[in-house]
Amino acid sequence: MEYYDYGIIGGGPAGYTAGMFLAKQGYNVILFEKDKLGGTCLNRGCIPTKSFLHSSELYSEIISASEIGVSYDNLRFDFSKVIEKKDKTVERVRKSLELAVKNSGVKTIYAVACIKDKNTIIADNNMYSADRIIVATGAKPKEIIGLEFDGKFILNSDDVLNISSLPKSVLIVGSGAIGIEWARIFSNFGAEVTIVETAEYLIPNADIDVSKRIERIFKQKKIKYYTKDSVAKIENKKVLLKSGAELTPDFVLVAAGREPVLPVCDDSCIVIGDSCGEIQLAHYAIHQAKQLALGITYNRDLIPSVIYGNPEIAWVGKREQDCGEDCKKILLPVTALGKAWCDDATEGFIKLITKDGRILGAHIVSKEASSLIHTVLIAMQNNLNVDELKKICFAHPTYSEGIFDIIINL
Ligand SMILES: Cc1cc2nc3c(=O)[nH]c(=O)nc-3n(C[C@H](O)[C@H](O)[C@H](O)COP(=O)(O)OP(=O)(O)OC[C@H]3O[C@@H](n4cnc5c(N)ncnc54)[C@H](O)[C@@H]3O)c2cc1C
Repeated sequence: MEYYDYGIIGGGPAGYTAGMFLAKQGYNVILFEKDKLGGTCLNRGCIPTKSFLHSSELYSEIISASEIGVSYDNLRFDFSKVIEKKDKTVERVRKSLELAVKNSGVKTIYAVACIKDKNTIIADNNMYSADRIIVATGAKPKEIIGLEFDGKFILNSDDVLNISSLPKSVLIVGSGAIGIEWARIFSNFGAEVTIVETAEYLIPNADIDVSKRIERIFKQKKIKYYTKDSVAKIENKKVLLKSGAELTPDFVLVAAGREPVLPVCDDSCIVIGDSCGEIQLAHYAIHQAKQLALGITYNRDLIPSVIYGNPEIAWVGKREQDCGEDCKKILLPVTALGKAWCDDATEGFIKLITKDGRILGAHIVSKEASSLIHTVLIAMQNNLNVDELKKICFAHPTYSEGIFDIIINL
């Protein structure tokens, strides 16, 4: 039997990050992955969706660019190339990850692993001994009763990556990050998109102003949505919503959350990443792994969320609906920013929520929101007072100066 300091089950962001950092510190680490290194994030999540999103946005931007002096005769897209580009992107990123894991000294076994006891892992009929076992087995798409996945008409976020042609119309169940990003992808490519959401607003986890703005943007983009509604029944590919609306999509994409995949393990195992069933984001999984391996602590209330597409959506900290009267809310439309006009990207806002001179929350709908949010996050993480932030010289013209425009008026 081989002996290791750490045996890690699952080669997604949580597992490979923990493995590499532990190995760097001199620990003897073995990592088990039943599929491909990179996990959901690299193979079925963050990376493939952003590749699709990029192709679809480029296409949609060129369609509407004649007003700003860019036009192209016979513009068309080849969906097989879009898929090819996505596959190449995933493969490239995976190759460099595989190399990084190998170079870090982590031994990788490609097999399903199970836990025999608190110090023994079994994979491919072999036993491996480890002082500590780390479970980083991720999560899988959640099924809803009546909407069981069949891979043909009712798809989950894994199945949708296998489509070979674009649908003419699609129904998306759920308006979290996955639902919103796929709605944008299909809509950018010209498909008719409808979203059904049980909550009162789209993106129910977001600040109320973010939800309302996205609803407005979706109306403009002719992305239909039904809130406070759900699928009542499906018969012969006809979908009936509780509200009575009848839809005939080419398929239904169910994006209604993910549930942890947990092998049988006891309290002696360390569980990190999506398999914890907490915040299911790649950067949270990575951060948990860093805490475990390097002792770097994190503030659970300061984990940023980002939804990609045009415009990007990003937030961190408290939402308006979580705050009392004693909080200040300041919202700057991005139309106030010269750079937004130059980029023809004037849709959106930067919103800060403050109390006693400290930022409690930031909610951004804007081009570059995924980067902007970190400026505010650094201030929040360090509990900086707005008077200190006023001293920062923001470059012009940028979206970041929008943050300064808000702060200087506080
Ligand atoms: C469509 C989609 C888009 C997403 N976009 C984003 C995004 O933009 N940003 C973001 O932060 N997050 C995003 N996520 C979430 C992100 O992918 C996850 O939070 C992240 O992958 C969690 O990492 P993990 O290591 O915990 O689990 P995973 O990445 O799921 O990795 C778990 C690994 O464990 C392996 N495994 C499971 N059981 C066993 C076993 N018994 N033996 C061996 N191996 C096993 C699996 O094969 C898998 O590779 C997205 C998710 C989806 C589905």
